[in-house]
Amino acid sequence: MNTTWDIRVDRSLCIGSGMCAASSPAHFELGEDHKSHPRADVVDPDDEVLDAALNCPVEAITVSDHATGTVIAPE
Ligand code: SF4
Repeated sequence: MNTTWDIRVDRSLCIGSGMCAASSPAHFELGEDHKSHPRADVVDPDDEVLDAALNCPVEAITVSDHATGTVIAPE
């Protein structure tokens, strides 16, 4: 069984730095309100997604295992 990840962006925390969209444009984009959102809520595992979650200055990005809900990043 293939593992997939859920990506969630807490828009109330996002300060619109754009770091996630710059480092991982395949997975994140900024909306007209300058808040980030994931391009897809469920994705295949990708280190770029982990890096984005770890590097977000306000920890607005949460990556979790789609099947179990276990949080993968940030730790
Ligand atoms: S890195 Fe964090 S604060 Fe910056 S745009 Fe992405 S989610 Fe928002």
